[in-house]
Amino acid sequence: MSSIFTKIIEGEIPCYKIAEDEDFFAFLDINPNAVGHTLCVPKKEVDKLLDLDEETYSGLMNFARKVGIALEAAIPCKRVGMTVIGLEVPHVHVHLIPLQKMANATFQEKVSLSKDEFEEVAARIKSHL
Ligand code: 5GP
Repeated sequence: MSSIFTKIIEGEIPCYKIAEDEDFFAFLDINPNAVGHTLCVPKKEVDKLLDLDEETYSGLMNFARKVGIALEAAIPCKRVGMTVIGLEVPHVHVHLIPLQKMANATFQEKVSLSKDEFEEVAARIKSHL
């Protein structure tokens, strides 16, 4: 069965898309730690980061770097944090999180955004790509 992220990539489930190329896809996390929290995923469905082949691993990091630079320009923050967890969704994804404080990186505090707010944030990030 396809992962929820494959369904998002294939357009079966809606998302607030940030960027896409041949191999990778970025979209806003639906339950963000902070405004602008973005997920970067390889289109190839692999569960764990360290099981990626070297080319996909490097490609994912390069893609996340580009998205992260746009995110840092778009969202006021001290820096953009990058983390890989994967305990919830078994499809490799890099979390890019605009950080103001350590709590933004801990997945304990969450922010809630309306549809309009998600759309505005996505547009703002995309304008820096
Ligand atoms: P992890 O697998 O790294 O522990 O966390 C998975 C992340 O994916 C969580 O931050 C969660 O909010 C996000 N997530 C789970 N399901 C969806 C979804 O359907 N859409 C979006 N945009 N994000 C999701």
